Amino acid sequence: MIETNQFREHEQLVYLHDKETGLKAIIAIHDTTLGPAGGGCRMWPYDNEMDAIADVLRLSRGMSYKNAVAGLALGGGKSVIIGNPHKDKSEELFRAFGRMVESLGGKYIAAEDVGISVEDMEIVARETKHVIGLSEGEHASGDPSPFTADGVFQGIRAAVKYKLGREDLSGLTVAVQGVGHVGYYICRHLHEAGAKLVVSDIHQPSLDRVVSEFGATVVDPGEILQVECDVLCPCALGAVLNDDTIPNLKTTIVAGAANNQLARDEHGRMLKDRGILFAPDYVINAGGIINVSAEARGKYDVEWVREKVANIYNTLMTIYRRSDEENRPTNVIADELAEEIIAAGRERNSKGKAA
Ligand code: NAD
Repeated sequence: MIETNQFREHEQLVYLHDKETGLKAIIAIHDTTLGPAGGGCRMWPYDNEMDAIADVLRLSRGMSYKNAVAGLALGGGKSVIIGNPHKDKSEELFRAFGRMVESLGGKYIAAEDVGISVEDMEIVARETKHVIGLSEGEHASGDPSPFTADGVFQGIRAAVKYKLGREDLSGLTVAVQGVGHVGYYICRHLHEAGAKLVVSDIHQPSLDRVVSEFGATVVDPGEILQVECDVLCPCALGAVLNDDTIPNLKTTIVAGAANNQLARDEHGRMLKDRGILFAPDYVINAGGIINVSAEARGKYDVEWVREKVANIYNTLMTIYRRSDEENRPTNVIADELAEEIIAAGRERNSKGKAA
C-alpha cells in the first residue's frame, strides 16, 4: 500500500469482519484537522479487499479536499461495505456497521453514497448518532440534489463571467449530459436564465420532462459530448473527459455535477491546452455535501446552506484566475487550495494547543 502511494497522509484505517452478520467494512479517516471526518458509505461488490482499501483511501482523501474547499468544519473520511447492494443488505448488517461507526466516537460521520439508501442509513442511525443525510427528524436535510444544482448553476455563472465576460446566460447554449436528480434542477435554473438547452439521457421519462417543461432539444447519448455549445454540463457519469473525448469537444466551458469527470488528472492539462475552462467537479458539486453537513451542526439552517452554496461562485472565480495566472490546470489549483486550507487549519490547531 505504502509502496503504491495509496496512503496519502491518512490518519486511520479501520477494517471489520463481523463474522455473525457477514459484514466486511472499511472506514478510512484521511484528515480531521478541520473537524470530524465526513463522507459517504459506499456498498460495492469489490473483487477483493485490496481493491476496497484502494477505493476507500482514494475517496476519503477526496472528501478532505471537497469539505475543505467548501469551507466546512469537516475533515475527510469514507467507508465501504464489501457486498452486493442488491443481494447482501440486511438489518443486522447495517446495525453492525452502525456499531463500527459508533466505536470511533464521532471521529467519522457517515452519510449515503453509491449503493446505500436513506433507509439503510436510518438503520445505521439506530446504533450511532454519527450519521447525516437522513430524510426525517428534526435535523434532517432532505434531498441534496436541488442544492447541488444551485451550486453548479453558480459555477456555470462564474465560468461564463470569467471566460465569456458575460453577466447573464441568455441565448447561450448549454449541453447537459444526464437529466436525473441534479441535471433536472440545473436545467430549470438554466431555462429560467434564458439559456438554450441540448440534453441527452438514457431514461426517456427524464428526457420527456425537460423537453415539456423547458423546451430542451434532445440528442443521442453518443452525441452530447460533441455538441457545439458554450457550456458542457456533465451530470451523469465519471471519466467523461478523456483521451478520446477531449479532442472532439466543441465547448469553451465544462461545468457540471458529475463526480470524477477527468479520467486522469492530466486531462485537466489537456483541457487547458485546448483553451477549455474546466470547473473542478468536487468544487462545483459541493452543494449536496454542504446541505447534508448542516445536520452535523445540530440545527438544520437553510440560510446557512444557501450562503455557503452561493460562495461556490467566488471559490471558482479564485480557482479560474489562479489557473491562468500560474498557467496550471484548474484541477491542480483546486487540490492546492484544499491543501492550503487544511495546512492553515493545522497551524491554527497547533497554536490553539500551545496557547
Ligand atoms: P441520477 O442517477 O439521478 O441522474 C443521472 C442521470 O444520468 C440519469 O437520469 C441517468 O439515466 C443518466 N445517464 C446514465 N448514463 C447516461 C449516459 N450514458 N448518457 C446520458 N445520460 C446518462 O444521479 P444524480 O443524483 O442526478 O447525480 C448525477 C451526477 O452528479 C453523478 O455523477 C453524481 O455522483 C453527481 N453528484 C450528485 C450529487 C447529488 O446531490 N445528487 C452531489 C454531488 C455529485
